[in-house]
Amino acid sequence: MKLSIVVPCYNEEKVVEETARRLRAVLDTLVEKRKIASDSFILFVNDGSCDATWSIIERLYVADPHICGLSLAQNSGHQNALMAGLATVTERCDAAVSIDADLQDDIAVIENMVDAFAAGADIVYGVRRTRKSDTFFKRTTAQAFYRLMSLFGVRTVYNHADFRLMSRRALRQLAEYPERNLFLRGIIPTIGYKTATVFYDRHERFAGESKYPLFKMLNFAIDGITSFSVKPIRLISSMGFIILFITLIMAGYTLVSFFCGETVEGWASLMLSLWFLGSVILIAIGTIGEYIGKIYVEVKRRPRYNVETFLHHDDESAK
Ligand code: UDP
Ligand code: MG
Repeated sequence: MKLSIVVPCYNEEKVVEETARRLRAVLDTLVEKRKIASDSFILFVNDGSCDATWSIIERLYVADPHICGLSLAQNSGHQNALMAGLATVTERCDAAVSIDADLQDDIAVIENMVDAFAAGADIVYGVRRTRKSDTFFKRTTAQAFYRLMSLFGVRTVYNHADFRLMSRRALRQLAEYPERNLFLRGIIPTIGYKTATVFYDRHERFAGESKYPLFKMLNFAIDGITSFSVKPIRLISSMGFIILFITLIMAGYTLVSFFCGETVEGWASLMLSLWFLGSVILIAIGTIGEYIGKIYVEVKRRPRYNVETFLHHDDESAK
């Protein structure tokens, strides 16, 4: 089986060389153990870096037949860079492992991923055993994120980032998702093929800084939820109905006050129209939202189903 390892890199001049060396060692070991083919390779994707990352990749490519490079014209973001790499290797390997350039994920479990693939899994998720190496802040925000995702009905794998193996079949299926707002962690569980999980401990970055500052993380979380769930829109309609219910109570209260003569002129009519119009407007926005939600699902053009196996006699009858 021919393996490829896809590594997105953005301003990673401090790490690429060392990363290449370590990943090469993993490839060599796996080739030696006859678990992967000798023409397996590593693909570095340069995501529009402004430092020396690409020139280092070029140098590595010239020196080593097992190293390839792909350079994007400009910075397109981690998810797009990863997708570019995966699309490039789809027809060039039997399975691809994606991993961050900083090697915070444990490269030793790539072997377990390959084993799980050999045992029949199409997608193997790398899952962090603990979040000990994270700061308190990152840990709690990450947990809140996973909770929010499941509250909104988005299926994700808990504590899994983009460290995973995918078979060629799964990669081809991934190509059927043409959406622009990529949130791979949400898309891949919807592919539905046989999956497996390997556990590992995440390390600190060995050099360089995180390319995911807080605002990028927040954007990523919002992207994740809004790409997979129209529930926020439903909340508007629900709120409209709740306020309509309150309107009825308020109408009773207002009318009683009015007929008891405890009100100043104009108050009762104002109160009634205020509440009523409020709920009508919310329900109207929610209704429009329902249609927008439908349009949203349509324009994403995700596949309706993914075929896993087709047993047929076509070829035999052709003979
Ligand atoms: N990355 C990328 N494009 C970007 C930002 C990040 O390709 O615009 C890559 C980066 O080089 C690294 C991976 O995405 O290989 C994950 O980034 P990082 O390690 O900085 O994120 P963290 O681990 O801190 O969440
Ligand atoms: Mg990192």
